[in-house]
Amino acid sequence: MNEIVAAQKKFFQTNVTKSISFRIEQLKKLKQLLKENEQLLNEAIFKDFKKSEFDTYTTELGIIYSEINLACKKLHKWVRTKRVSTNFLNFPGKSYIIPEPLGVTLIIGAWNYPYQLSLSPAIAAISAGNTIVLKPSEIAVETSSLLAKILNEAFDPAFFKVVEGGVIETTKLLNEKFDKIFFTGSTAVGKIIYKAAAKKLTPVTLELGGKSPAIIDENFNIKVSVKRLVWAKFLNAGQTCIAPDYVCVHESIKTEFLKQLIAEIKTSNFKIENNNYVQIINQKNTKRLISLINSEKLYFGGTYNLGENTIDPTILTDVSFNDEIMEDEIFGPILPVIAYKNIDEIITQIKLKPKPLACYIFSNNNAFIKKIEKEVSFGSGAINDAVMQITNENLPFGGVGNSGIGSYHGVYGFKAFSHYKSILRKSTWFEPNLKYYPLTKFKLKLIKFLMR
Ligand code: NAD
Repeated sequence: MNEIVAAQKKFFQTNVTKSISFRIEQLKKLKQLLKENEQLLNEAIFKDFKKSEFDTYTTELGIIYSEINLACKKLHKWVRTKRVSTNFLNFPGKSYIIPEPLGVTLIIGAWNYPYQLSLSPAIAAISAGNTIVLKPSEIAVETSSLLAKILNEAFDPAFFKVVEGGVIETTKLLNEKFDKIFFTGSTAVGKIIYKAAAKKLTPVTLELGGKSPAIIDENFNIKVSVKRLVWAKFLNAGQTCIAPDYVCVHESIKTEFLKQLIAEIKTSNFKIENNNYVQIINQKNTKRLISLINSEKLYFGGTYNLGENTIDPTILTDVSFNDEIMEDEIFGPILPVIAYKNIDEIITQIKLKPKPLACYIFSNNNAFIKKIEKEVSFGSGAINDAVMQITNENLPFGGVGNSGIGSYHGVYGFKAFSHYKSILRKSTWFEPNLKYYPLTKFKLKLIKFLMR
């Protein structure tokens, strides 16, 4: 670890990574590499948790390619020095801000979108002119090993190096001094990363999890909300950080909502062989999820295969905020449905919990939407949809409070890996005497007037 970081520090000092042509070249090289290895990438992710080629393209590779395309297109604009106005006290002078790379960066990925969560931050780091040590999640064994193989063969380790491993290796990495740590994973591990970073005063971006609510207003079109919700919840078998964790539905439409929910799940026919469903990543998580299926509240599904690590889409109903399933992020294909009379009850309950990563509001009533937007704090969200906000690179993606620190995607990724250096450049033809000795009453009066 020590040698890798030392080599990267040395390479960063050469200023090679700061050249825009180098950055664009590396981004294009990465895209080319992924394109050439698409079949292997599909095979590895299928071995890890049976993710289909369709889902791998739409939720991983396609997103990575779009991020690369956007960075290549916009980089000249992002790196530009920005002129800002200069205050009167500094007349005559000019002021500007230069984005500069932070240096040697560490990216730690999660297993649930193993390519996207490792490579989107890496694209941001390259765009901003940094070097990268990438540690993918060891839980997605095959994808981690493939990323290490193809990236380590193609890139100079002094610029971009994949280090594989779990807690032991990550802990060793955290003992090194990085200029930035970008972590995606659970809130619990996020705290460990933050603590390690604090010891070395390393800036962090933490992309964490949480319980993201979906709220359905009483007059909303149930058909549309159900279709979009079902897709968002059962994509990746619920193992999506911004998946709707639970649904709050107005009690007047609960019966019809549940009826249509079940119909939509049946129509969608979520199965690995239909390419629209995946395994739960491992047996530990399968067991954890099964233990959350309270038979008294089970409304639909609840079937599973422990040997195969699969759980069918499951709906729990008559759930209250005090139930066990409402304690932690579910991160699986179980959807609790909570009926409400008054939206204020729901807002109060959501606010009693840590700030969610996402929130989804299904309503055509502006006052209803604005009320939730104003009163509830959350990382990102969508109105009348779920999860899709992540596909718009113009929106910063990240959490707040327990669901994360900082954001990325598009220019926000570039910003996450940059320092904005402020500079005041003074002219020498004029030197007002105001701040120099002797400090007279008149000068103070003038200063008080200028700085009133
Ligand atoms: P995790 O926190 O268990 O692991 C994430 C990474 O941290 C892995 O690379 C792992 O090797 C490393 N790690 C684990 N324990 C560690 C320790 N003690 N010390 C140092 N490093 C350690 O998370 P996960 O199970 O891979 O992912 C699931 C979680 O990630 C969920 O909570 C989910 O919501 C969250 N997540 C968030 C986002 C987001 O963008 N906000 C995206 C995906 C997943």
